[in-house]
Amino acid sequence: VKRVLIIEDEARIASFVEKGLRANGMTPTVVSDGVTGLDYATTGEFDLVVLDIGLPGMDGFTVLRRLRQAQVQVPVIVLTARDSVTDTVAALEGGADDYMAKPFRFDELLARIRLRLRTERGLEVTVLLDAPLSPVGRWTCPRASSPWRRCSCAIPGRCCRASSC
Ligand code: CA
Repeated sequence: VKRVLIIEDEARIASFVEKGLRANGMTPTVVSDGVTGLDYATTGEFDLVVLDIGLPGMDGFTVLRRLRQAQVQVPVIVLTARDSVTDTVAALEGGADDYMAKPFRFDELLARIRLRLRTERGLEVTVLLDAPLSPVGRWTCPRASSPWRRCSCAIPGRCCRASSC
């Protein structure tokens, strides 16, 4: 059973995501502020974190940065407002694995969560069996900063952190 930490202060969204994940066989835990969220995420007890940006106590960017500084490599999907493109890019550069723009459909979030969980677990097998010598695997992500590269094992043409792909 996959344990998913939801760090989200909007009760309506948190509850909507929590119920959806539970209905899909996962074990969600909800916390509503950044400080508690960082504490929980750092325990290593979770397989994935859904992280809101606008949070009381400590914003999502800070949570993400501290998590990565602490060498916690849990996959993180950031929730962000649809009009905050700059924020989103900053979040990805800060070590997020993916993002969802609010408002979003639960199905979309679930698909991304499942992809991330599968990528983390089945990574080496997928790469070895499906793309052993493909030049695709050596493409450089147009984002071009060092931890990023073009992902050949998850979604062709997307960027991901080298450590998670
Ligand atoms: Ca919020």
